[in-house]
Amino acid sequence: MDKLEMLYEGKAKKVYKTSDPDKYIVDYKDDATAFNGLKKGTITGKGVINNRVTNHLMKLLEGHGIPTHFISQLSQRETLVKKVGILPLEVIVRNVAAGSLAKRLGLEEGTRMKKTVLEFCYKCDALDDPMVNRYHILAMEYADEEQLDKICEYSLKINDILSQYLKDVGIELIDFKLEYGVTDDGELVLADEISPDTCRFWDIKTHEKLDKDRFRRDMGGVEDAYKEILFRLMGEA
Ligand code: UDP
Repeated sequence: MDKLEMLYEGKAKKVYKTSDPDKYIVDYKDDATAFNGLKKGTITGKGVINNRVTNHLMKLLEGHGIPTHFISQLSQRETLVKKVGILPLEVIVRNVAAGSLAKRLGLEEGTRMKKTVLEFCYKCDALDDPMVNRYHILAMEYADEEQLDKICEYSLKINDILSQYLKDVGIELIDFKLEYGVTDDGELVLADEISPDTCRFWDIKTHEKLDKDRFRRDMGGVEDAYKEILFRLMGEA
């Protein structure tokens, strides 16, 4: 399947049309941004790793009955996906306090939540992705009630599947961000990516950070952390 015109260039990926009107190609870049684009850089090899890790996890989720946009990996950086309209929501799932939650509630990073926390943010760079609740989402029609119920159900199930899977390779799933889309047929599917850019992964024993926080916080060892995730999930360097 060939790439036709580029539809959209985001911070970490480009999206292209194909000759099939129901399919797009996603092309992962090495560009890294944080703090809503304020911090910019390059993580060499990130595009390849995020493409492969995302596809690996999307296939795992499909196998557990979660519908996703994934169709097939085309190359190291490119994947064929179903064309969807992305809902303007970031769904954040949290098992352990970190990042903005630790700050907002005055919790020490690493504090386990007594119950999984779901948060929603309205995807809007100009407003810095403000947090919204169920009422805002329905009032603003970012999603309808049926979609929102499914989003909550899928997100909690995804958390269970990924947490268990990652635990088996020595990784603690601290928190992560999901995005959902709707196909032309009206099916709600998991879209976007699941990668060290969008998840917090800590080594279970040492609590070493193996994700984008190393870039956000100038901790060094960013490329090695991404490679370590690829290695633990797929057994490849
Ligand atoms: N996240 C993301 N994109 C965003 C915001 C957050 O992928 O635009 C992910 C982030 O990597 C982390 C989780 O969502 O795994 C929770 O992020 P948080 O709200 O703590 O924000 P951050 O500290 O990353 O600004």
